[in-house]
Amino acid sequence: MDDRPIGDHGYQLFLDEDKLMGSRCSACKAIFVPPRQICVECRGHDLAWASVRGTGRLAAFTSISIGPSFMSEEGFGRDRPYCTAAVELDEGPRVVARLEEVEPSRPDQICIGMPVTVRFLHRTTTSGPRTFLAFVPC
Ligand SMILES: [Zn+2]
Repeated sequence: MDDRPIGDHGYQLFLDEDKLMGSRCSACKAIFVPPRQICVECRGHDLAWASVRGTGRLAAFTSISIGPSFMSEEGFGRDRPYCTAAVELDEGPRVVARLEEVEPSRPDQICIGMPVTVRFLHRTTTSGPRTFLAFVPC
């Protein structure tokens, strides 16, 4: 599908293009997001890029008040928490991403199992432009 080497760099380049991509094992068809070069299901080494729809369900989340410095740079902190989530994609794999368009200070209102869809956050960081993976309720 694409001749980029499977790995974190290629994954990030796809995110920059608003594409969520994983890798699929040719032997057992397992899908991994972010992509893996070796299948953890069958130890197969023949994996290729695979696009995923970017829809799934909220599997878990946490509300974070004290995060890494790049989140502080965006203005998040004790008075403005943010959410990180594990999303179970419709294709099966679970991916960790930011959870947007929810109220992080009211975690009781965020429902495990709710349907979510992908959103690509284009931000400028101290090291330049970067795309972050996020999901929003749909
Ligand atoms: Zn496999």
